[in-house]
Amino acid sequence: MTANERAFARALESLPGGVSSPVRSFGAVGGTPRVIAAGAGAELVDVDGERLLDFVGSWGPLILGHAHPEVLSALHDACERGTTFGAPCPGEAALAERVIDAYAGIEKVRFVSSGTEATMSAIRLARGVTGRDLVVKFAGCYHGHADHLLVQAGSGLATFARPSSAGVPEAFASQTLVCDLDDERGLADLFTAHSERIAAVIIEPVPANCGLLIQRREFLADVARQTREQGALLILDEVISGFRLARGGAAQLLGLEPDLATFGKVIGGGLPVGAFAGRAELMDHLAPEGDVYQAGTLSGNPLAMAAGLATLDVLEREDGWTRLEDLGRLLEERLTPILEAGRLPARLVRVGSIFWLSLQEGEAPRRADAIEPVAATRYRELFHGLLSRGVALAPSAFEVGFLSLAHEYEHVERLEDALEQVLGESGEA
Ligand SMILES: *Cc1c(COP(=O)(O)O)cnc(C)c1O
Repeated sequence: MTANERAFARALESLPGGVSSPVRSFGAVGGTPRVIAAGAGAELVDVDGERLLDFVGSWGPLILGHAHPEVLSALHDACERGTTFGAPCPGEAALAERVIDAYAGIEKVRFVSSGTEATMSAIRLARGVTGRDLVVKFAGCYHGHADHLLVQAGSGLATFARPSSAGVPEAFASQTLVCDLDDERGLADLFTAHSERIAAVIIEPVPANCGLLIQRREFLADVARQTREQGALLILDEVISGFRLARGGAAQLLGLEPDLATFGKVIGGGLPVGAFAGRAELMDHLAPEGDVYQAGTLSGNPLAMAAGLATLDVLEREDGWTRLEDLGRLLEERLTPILEAGRLPARLVRVGSIFWLSLQEGEAPRRADAIEPVAATRYRELFHGLLSRGVALAPSAFEVGFLSLAHEYEHVERLEDALEQVLGESGEA
């Protein structure tokens, strides 16, 4: 038995599924997850000392790679001053100002400790402000695990959503309406059927939790227009895309200006942070100014603020977004011919530093229901083929990969070589 197998067997004894979050298990691909001892730059090191080239990046936060020296040094300084105060700290206003400065239409920010809390609280605020209850989400978009957001795709246009987890009361799920992506007519039908009852429309502007489902600009513009015309609030869930795709998030890239935006992942520089933000007129409905309650013992934590600020400092100073786009373009140029020549149907879908392998024939899908189930079977083989060659992608066909500023030309080449072996004629998984 390897140290890794022993460590995971031990975890299975005390943690459900051996993990603290289900996506980390290898449920979808089979096998034993690597138990990680350390990370440095673009690499992970498991408890056996085996090094893995990492394209998961802790599922999005690590835009500078693992253990970036400036983030560590900021954390070290902050630690020495204490880890939490339960009182205002200067880092909160400093990070809030960075968000306000970067993101169009935002005047105030509330910090929380996860993306889940950010979207959950933004929706409570939208309901409090509008006095309406219903929320529209899009099939395939993930907004964290709050009860009313954990609902599946409804296929009928005006059907109420079904919970996609046991333990979510129908009564909660019934407050969420589900629309298909790429379908402005479907949204119009929902607004017609539930006129003046919809508080908010929430969407990932670049949906990246069910493959990478790149949306038409006209569709997103139409979602924004309809939402405004109907007196509902538009919430852009930028938990993945915020500070990753551009300084001003996907909104900047796509020319959108939401009423509320949610952040997480990159904004915390690898520590547990989320945030939601909007115009002062909306945000001032939050307690203690207003009557929408929201709170958190560790919200605005000084360590988390320091890690977030250090991350944004490096991104801005090094023109990180341009570098990541260049790296992404390189990845696309190098991988596309290999995928086209390989023995599986495969295409690289990419926006900036977010990429996904679509393992089916034809155009890249734009909707969750356009992803063929066979893609998951093909992915198992690809995933293990790469892992056995020291390259870590996410253990699910529906998860995206992330590039970081720690990735260099040689890392792209290593992925390219591994992929060529796995997909090549002689490749065996
Ligand atoms: C990850 C994610 C969330 C949830 O964030 P957690 O920090 O995992 O709670 C919400 N929305 C989107 C778009 C995400 O990718």
